[in-house]
Amino acid sequence: MKILIVGNGGREHAIAWTLLQSPKVEKVFCTPGNGGTATLKGCENYPISVEDFEGIKNLVETQGISLVVVGPELPLALGITDYLQQHNIKVFGPNQAGAQLEASKAWSKAFMEDAGIPTAKAAVFTDADTAKAYIQTVPIVVKADGLAAGKGVTVATTVEMAYEAIDTIFAGEFGQDNLRVVVEDFLSGQEASVLALTDGLTIRPLVPAQDHKQAGEGDTGPNTGGMGAYAPTPIVPPELLSRVQQQVLEPTLATLRQRGINYCGVVYAGLMISPEGEIQVLEFNCRFGDPETQAVLALLETPLEEVLLACCEQRLEQISLTWKSGVSVCVVLASGGYPGSYQKGKVITGIQEAEASGAIVFHAGTKLQDGQILTDGGRVLGVTAIGSSFKDAITQTYKAVDCINFEGLYYRRDIGFRVDH
Ligand code: ATP
Repeated sequence: MKILIVGNGGREHAIAWTLLQSPKVEKVFCTPGNGGTATLKGCENYPISVEDFEGIKNLVETQGISLVVVGPELPLALGITDYLQQHNIKVFGPNQAGAQLEASKAWSKAFMEDAGIPTAKAAVFTDADTAKAYIQTVPIVVKADGLAAGKGVTVATTVEMAYEAIDTIFAGEFGQDNLRVVVEDFLSGQEASVLALTDGLTIRPLVPAQDHKQAGEGDTGPNTGGMGAYAPTPIVPPELLSRVQQQVLEPTLATLRQRGINYCGVVYAGLMISPEGEIQVLEFNCRFGDPETQAVLALLETPLEEVLLACCEQRLEQISLTWKSGVSVCVVLASGGYPGSYQKGKVITGIQEAEASGAIVFHAGTKLQDGQILTDGGRVLGVTAIGSSFKDAITQTYKAVDCINFEGLYYRRDIGFRVDH
């Protein structure tokens, strides 16, 4: 079968790579893809934007593609699934109504309240003065309502910081339309990501993961899209995962159904686990996480195309998910300066050597030009390896990372430090 993946990040390369492990997958197309999908055997890039729904539909029809997998949140929030389904195309990824789980934090908070899902107390405001008057204690969390690529959240440790965050949001920094701010109680604990698959009838968690969001070692410095990840995280043992199923995933699915939303895709629950083991949902995403997907899919044994097709055909209940033994670690290699400004177009060397050491090198911000792989974004590569323990997987991963070079290369040397034993 032929499958099309929409997107151009590390997550999309990981999905393409995993799909191509199956002999039933004849070819994978990526729109627009990156340097990794351009050089992956069996995969071909087409320079079509993720927002060009008609271009994507035309490619599906001319190439005889049977399934579209949507990577990023933006096209989902813009309704790519609704559009393609109207043309009788199978899509893995929720429709626009379902994508609100991620696209509006105000919607998502109201949804959680309705579903009885444990989450921080929050209030939504449409003007700055009322939002500021609400703030009585710190720390407190200020969130822009809409999609902000991870930049719309401020954990304010002073009232001044909270006011500034509110002013920034109402100044239109994250979009001018429908300005709203969510002010939320601060939660402490450890964060974990549970990515679950659903066909609208059944919901199944994948192995739980943790990522490192901050740029600096020891989880310090500015937030990024993610500097590394690992799975399965011991912070979510099987007993806790079954509570996530009961307290978060099942109520999510039931409430989606009550609202008449037929959701096919990933429900990603960003969780805060308190020191006492209590679960609270920080946020929902409506797609695979990046870089958690690189770590999680590296461990999946069941052919991915079988699982994704089963979701689209509402027969997920019949599929059993099996996993490789061991654990996986993904280290992100970034351009110097990221998440601030950085340069592009640097020649990357050593990828083959890294792969020869047994790791998988997933490309994120790269492009293929004149036979060379060049940097083309902030997060450039996600080097991923499997080991029998976290200590082993971390050693394998960094051995591969050491083979790779490009001007300005930056990465954290402490990915997995919480589980490194
Ligand atoms: P991303 O795109 O990176 O997933 P986002 O913009 O959708 O992020 P959230 O996940 O809601 O936003 O928040 C980003 C980060 O802010 C969280 O990973 C967490 O570290 C912190 N955070 C959010 N809400 C809270 C809270 N209530 N208490 C403490 N920390 C929080």
